[in-house]
Amino acid sequence: MHVIYGGTFDPIHHGHLRLALEISDALKVAQVHLVPCHIPPHRGSTGASPEQRLELIRLAIKDEPGLRVDDRELRRAGASYTADTLLQLRQELGPDEPLVMVVGTDAFAAFHRWREWADIPDLAHIVVVKRPGADLPVGSEAARLVRERRADGAESLRSAPCGMVLELDPPLLDISATGIRQRIADGRSPRYLTPDPVWQSIRALGLYGACPAGNF
Ligand code: ATP
Repeated sequence: MHVIYGGTFDPIHHGHLRLALEISDALKVAQVHLVPCHIPPHRGSTGASPEQRLELIRLAIKDEPGLRVDDRELRRAGASYTADTLLQLRQELGPDEPLVMVVGTDAFAAFHRWREWADIPDLAHIVVVKRPGADLPVGSEAARLVRERRADGAESLRSAPCGMVLELDPPLLDISATGIRQRIADGRSPRYLTPDPVWQSIRALGLYGACPAGNF
């Protein structure tokens, strides 16, 4: 079973990293693949370049064999669309291997605005992670999909290559990349919200308004 977890990771933080390990425990997979997106179609520009975000992810997961980074969306020219990524992975994995995409309810709520969203259940299973304060709107496509394609449990995802939706409610850390960027811009330390090597690199590169000579 191949599991991907996409996001802007601008920058990656302990909330992302913990969730990735919770997913790997829940689905009993050896690896979760983090997929940073190139130009987020639903957002404005990011605070760090694609290469810098990728490097920060590499630093964050260096000592964790259960986490991998897949930079395919950064290598693709232009915007990142989940459907394109899943199609490419499906071609690589073949028709029978279960493929799973992980998404938080905050991002999944706007599922009906994703490009070619209707094709996605034919390419992968979807694991929807409940985020506090981000319920799926009643009557939305996302809510309908959860209702109509609900998986019995994590194990049942292995019985088909795609098509099921599993809701998970793991313990989450209340950390956001927005909060980290804001802290740094305000001259406050984001230490312990993101791994130390990530913060060191952010400072060294002066990202998000960090002062290279500032306090740890
Ligand atoms: P931003 O604050 O810039 O919007 P973010 O911290 O929410 O960023 P993203 O890269 O936008 O991070 O999120 C990627 C994925 O990670 C999304 O599916 C989102 O739901 C999830 N996610 C983000 N923060 C957390 C967290 N603290 N715990 C669990 N999942 C998270």
